[in-house]
Amino acid sequence: MYLCELNIPCSHIPGVGPALAQKLASIGIIDISQLLRWYPRNWEDMSHLQPLSAWTTQKEILSDVEVIGLQWLHFRGRRHPKLIITDGDTRASLSGFNRAYLATSYPPGSRIRVWAKYVFKRGEIQSSSFTVYKNHGQNPDGILPVYRLSEGISQNQLRKAVKQALNLYAVNISDEIPEALRNKHQLLPKAEALVNIHFPQSFELRDRAIQSLKYEELLHFLLPIARRAIQRRALGPTTKERNPGPSLLQKRLIERLPFSLTQGQEGALQEINSDIASGRPMARLIQGDVGSGKTLVAFLAALASVEAGGQVAIMAPTELLARQLAQEAAKLLEPMGLRLAALSGSVPAPLRRPLLAALAAGDIDIVIGTHALFSRDVIYKNLQLVIVDEQHRFGVMQRSAIMAKGESPHLIMMSATPIPRSLALTLFGDLDVSTIRDIPPGRKPVRTHLSYQTDMGKVYDLVRRELEAGRQAFFVYPLIEDQEYMELKDAVGMAKVLGTKVFPDFPIEVLHSKLPDEEKDGIMQAFRLGQVKILVATSVVEVGIDVPNASCMVIEHADRFGLAALHQLRGRVGRGSHQAYCFLTFNPDTTEDGKARLKVMHSHRDGFIIAEEDLRLRGPGQLRGLEQSGYISLGLADPSLDLDILSQAHTDIFDILNQDPGLLAVEHQGLAANQEQYSEVALG
Ligand code: ADP
Ligand code: MG
Repeated sequence: MYLCELNIPCSHIPGVGPALAQKLASIGIIDISQLLRWYPRNWEDMSHLQPLSAWTTQKEILSDVEVIGLQWLHFRGRRHPKLIITDGDTRASLSGFNRAYLATSYPPGSRIRVWAKYVFKRGEIQSSSFTVYKNHGQNPDGILPVYRLSEGISQNQLRKAVKQALNLYAVNISDEIPEALRNKHQLLPKAEALVNIHFPQSFELRDRAIQSLKYEELLHFLLPIARRAIQRRALGPTTKERNPGPSLLQKRLIERLPFSLTQGQEGALQEINSDIASGRPMARLIQGDVGSGKTLVAFLAALASVEAGGQVAIMAPTELLARQLAQEAAKLLEPMGLRLAALSGSVPAPLRRPLLAALAAGDIDIVIGTHALFSRDVIYKNLQLVIVDEQHRFGVMQRSAIMAKGESPHLIMMSATPIPRSLALTLFGDLDVSTIRDIPPGRKPVRTHLSYQTDMGKVYDLVRRELEAGRQAFFVYPLIEDQEYMELKDAVGMAKVLGTKVFPDFPIEVLHSKLPDEEKDGIMQAFRLGQVKILVATSVVEVGIDVPNASCMVIEHADRFGLAALHQLRGRVGRGSHQAYCFLTFNPDTTEDGKARLKVMHSHRDGFIIAEEDLRLRGPGQLRGLEQSGYISLGLADPSLDLDILSQAHTDIFDILNQDPGLLAVEHQGLAANQEQYSEVALG
């Protein structure tokens, strides 16, 4: 039986009564499979007893002691017991704040076993962070799990329940990892891995258990990705081969541009053209730093499809970005005679109907919009290419919804959130990747200044100089509105201050996610046109906005933002020919992490390097790195941190699928049977 099939309710475990079962259910543990996957967040080494004299402030120790006295501490109008203990040689005390029961349960004379971290204070060794167990003279318990708990469930109850469940059911749990691979990587059988992650026989075995379970998760996770990759490569040509050089329309657009393509853009275009020429449906991720000119590449790709008689849908995550793309397209493509349309949720019904009719009739070549592009009532005559901008903002389901509007259309996804190549190769194993590494020439690198929150005067002076020279500025804040309990500046409040006190002579607007879409659009439009000189915002300006005349990006409380966001924000300036500035301001007493991020921003401007630094900073100590940035969520493994296991699993899963595409072999049953659980892990 596979673990996921152990759907026996927890109440069947001896010792788990209806009350406990209900509390477990409230944190999502309904059956035994869920209980056994409630992995510990830590472990306590109770495998040996130590004398009190071995105390340290760093780690808990386990000691057998006798209670020799009871005192009372008076604090906040209540009294709390203080147990005086000794192991015969050393005396110590345990302060039980809000633990009055200690006085009755362990009166002087009791023999107890204490797990505690001690400090030396006021002439005695004392602890206020401890656990007390009855001492029956039994052997120490070994390494015990520490679980995340919730109201009304105790560590001990959960330990007992898990232990019972393991005793009763572990032997029946089958392996999911094929035996050959398990042996190759020296992983534990599933049952042993489960036992040793909960109640490890040694820390070495615990580590192997973690490795084994992570590998198993990643193997499952990569299975559908690898399958899609293999299927796509196996598809025969669906259209006739064409010459992969630039098409006629592509040449015409390139000639009309006031600049030439960068090498990276050329490269990406060639790769796209040869994908299209191969006749197989293309699925390509275009990775390029902010400002590297991905939009142009997308438009060029669109031209090839239109020329071949097809339609193109270009999808952006927000109305703002969709609008901007549509304007850009109107500027570049409409003069060439292409028929464009914009479709978003805010298009009113009387306009929407004729637009949909034109799409269905094939009278529109390129439609640009938001999620509205794959609404149920949208029908395409011949959708040949789907372009998804800022792809990390969309989930797998949305990606497939738009793809379903055509017959195996080509897919191009664009991302300005660079992820390290090693990770891209595995996470996007079903995509080909084009990377634009260069940015258009002639741009002056943005000058980045770090300054204290108390030095805003200087920052304002510099910004004023720029405004007087005709440039524009962004001010970004971590909050939309004032929050009582946080000492942070907010966009709405600061817009007032900046507008009335600091820059009363320049038009200013505030932009954030709570505004209605039309209002956001209007503000953005006014800023693009230069009617508004100062845009005060939250991180909504993070993605994609292109205003070449803006030369200042001021981010207050910059230490509160993640590296990816800071990099994106800074990328909003320095898009024109003027020198641009980024001011990152912070409180001197911010965390070390916050300072480290700002240092990275100060010393690097290549988004790929910043992404690598980001991973390094988040380090193995921090679980679920990418989940926070919205890429993916798994149980134990974190693809961004467990890179070695990830790449191992990547190689292995391709080997397996190449040998046994249907997973029919007996040793692959564990993989085949568990696919469903993992098939829709959100992958941006
Ligand atoms: P991103 O890759 O961040 O989406 P955009 O496509 O918005 O970047 O392009 C940023 C700016 O660079 C735009 O104003 C665009 O017109 C300009 N641009 C694009 N390609 C080139 C090029 N080859 N030379 C000069 N400027 C370019
Ligand atoms: Mg873009």
